[in-house]
Amino acid sequence: MKKYLVAISVITQALAACSTPNSNLNNQYYTMVDYYAVKKIDAHVHANNSSTAFIMQAKNDNMKLLSINVDYQDFPNIDKQAEIAHQFAKEHPNKFYFATTFSMEGSNNGQWKNNVIKRIDAEIGEGAVAVKVWKNIGMAEKDNKQNLIMIDDPLFTPIFKHLTDIHIPLIGHQGEPKNCWLPVSQMTVNNDKQYFTAHPQYHMYLHPEMPSYEDQMQARNNMLNNHPTLQFMGAHLASLEWSVDQISIFLDTYPDAVVDLAARMGQIQYQSTLDRSKVRNFFIKYQNRILYATDLTHSPTVSDAQFKSQAHKKWLEDWQYLTSNQTISVPEVDGEIISLALPKNVIDNLYAKNAIRFFNLAPKT
Ligand SMILES: [Zn+2]
Repeated sequence: MKKYLVAISVITQALAACSTPNSNLNNQYYTMVDYYAVKKIDAHVHANNSSTAFIMQAKNDNMKLLSINVDYQDFPNIDKQAEIAHQFAKEHPNKFYFATTFSMEGSNNGQWKNNVIKRIDAEIGEGAVAVKVWKNIGMAEKDNKQNLIMIDDPLFTPIFKHLTDIHIPLIGHQGEPKNCWLPVSQMTVNNDKQYFTAHPQYHMYLHPEMPSYEDQMQARNNMLNNHPTLQFMGAHLASLEWSVDQISIFLDTYPDAVVDLAARMGQIQYQSTLDRSKVRNFFIKYQNRILYATDLTHSPTVSDAQFKSQAHKKWLEDWQYLTSNQTISVPEVDGEIISLALPKNVIDNLYAKNAIRFFNLAPKT
């Protein structure tokens, strides 16, 4: 932790000392001093607080936001999330984007799918650029026979067909990090150890009666096989975060799909401590298929100042890992990590071009 703080303080000093932030833009690699000059998008955040602190910090850091609404009981309800998203999208066009979602409540009722489609269309009218399905599908929601509803259930067919027809992407978070099926002592990153200790209801190692990791991945793949032209973003590296080889297989199998890095940078950093060049080559090979994202969540209870500093620190830390060739320390991984030093064109794809293309975010004239 101490080293981490030292590293962040070095970055802050370097940025403060820099009077010409564009000075390095002619080289093949960005440096820390280019951070503010490069346009960036964080393609997976949760703006759940009506304060504009998140957007203000993002503007300061030259970062646009894609906020994803989720039917999650620890978040404000989905109508409140939508209300916040609509307001920000109107007040900060071309800076703030959002993805809508839907409730599974009443899914045993025949009218449910029509209501979901109506809601999706109304949210698109408000500016939604995508629809999110969360891990409650596959891990919590049950049909009237008390069987878990998986993402390949025919229940969703008319909804996903509708999204395909209207060219709106689906963002899918199915399953969990593979660590979820391991005992805490065997998990590879500290944030998973903390999350699953705090949320034992989602720690599948403790619930062998639940579907396996492989079952969750198979259900997601079945759904994609059934909807081959649906635009799909696998949130959290499509829950294949533990292996860049597995993510590569997924991206090769579904050539139109993309993945986001939200809340899984630690697993990537962990793998880069084992084989840096393999991870670096993965980013270069799939540079058009990976979207920079953090999962930063501005909850209604956190103070503006605290959140702004958390967001700024996380964005800087990721920028340093992806762009520089320095040795860094991060809270998620024990030990030191050598940053990836990805070339500028790769960084531009990860940080902006892929999200603009996939979610059609180019400013409308
Ligand atoms: Zn998220």
